[in-house]
Amino acid sequence: MRLDVVSLAPEAFAPLLGLGVIGRAFAAGIATLHTHNPRDFAEGKYRKVDDEPYGGGAGMVLKPEPVFAAVEAIPVLPRRRTLLMSPQGKPLQQADLQHWATGLDQLVLICGHYEGFDERIRTLADEEISIGDFVLTGGELPAAVIINGVVRLLPGTVGTADSLVEESHSSLLLEHPHYTRPANFRSMDVPAVLRSGDHGAIARWRAEQQQQRTQQRRPDLYARWRAQQLEQQQ
Ligand code: SAM
Repeated sequence: MRLDVVSLAPEAFAPLLGLGVIGRAFAAGIATLHTHNPRDFAEGKYRKVDDEPYGGGAGMVLKPEPVFAAVEAIPVLPRRRTLLMSPQGKPLQQADLQHWATGLDQLVLICGHYEGFDERIRTLADEEISIGDFVLTGGELPAAVIINGVVRLLPGTVGTADSLVEESHSSLLLEHPHYTRPANFRSMDVPAVLRSGDHGAIARWRAEQQQQRTQQRRPDLYARWRAQQLEQQQ
């Protein structure tokens, strides 16, 4: 998959290339990362990318021309989607990451900066995405979150496909607890069932744990899961 990021701080993405599993996926060519700085497309001696807001008010606004020029210079692959990082966007979900990882050749991520971006920049995007109900200084961390989440789902990045199927948010239930050696650590025991070798009992215990955990931590998800179960039973 080809990933293109439009950002005034392209250096923010360098750490992704050396980041464990994700870094290895880039090294193996499973994904390629290309950054495009609107400043390189800005006109004038000072290559100005921001300006004061019409109507007055605090902060500067990202100008449309350099962002349009940067996006328009990116090669276009057949199955492409353009996302605009915005705290006003659709809250990011695991299902979005899965959708993009399986259905696309190219993902373009546009990062905002300053007080905001000129409203016309919105027309460049198919979708606006928020990573949560809080405000960061720029779209680089949100874009890096999306890149990490998408690349780890690409075939070949994560060793076992099972670990992707069973994890939290791949269905409505959160994942069950994990333990490794030692069996006893500071008076905390690994549940006996996990050491029993009884695969049926282990699967039942994990399923119960998933339900309990989701009910306690995310009653909203649990209610949706219950409704889904009832619907399937009908
Ligand atoms: N004044 C803007 C508003 O209230 O919507 C916030 C601008 S924010 C300081 C600058 C940029 O950071 C945004 O344009 C966006 O690209 C990015 N950003 C900040 N928080 C974000 C979030 N929760 N999700 C996605 N992008 C975010």
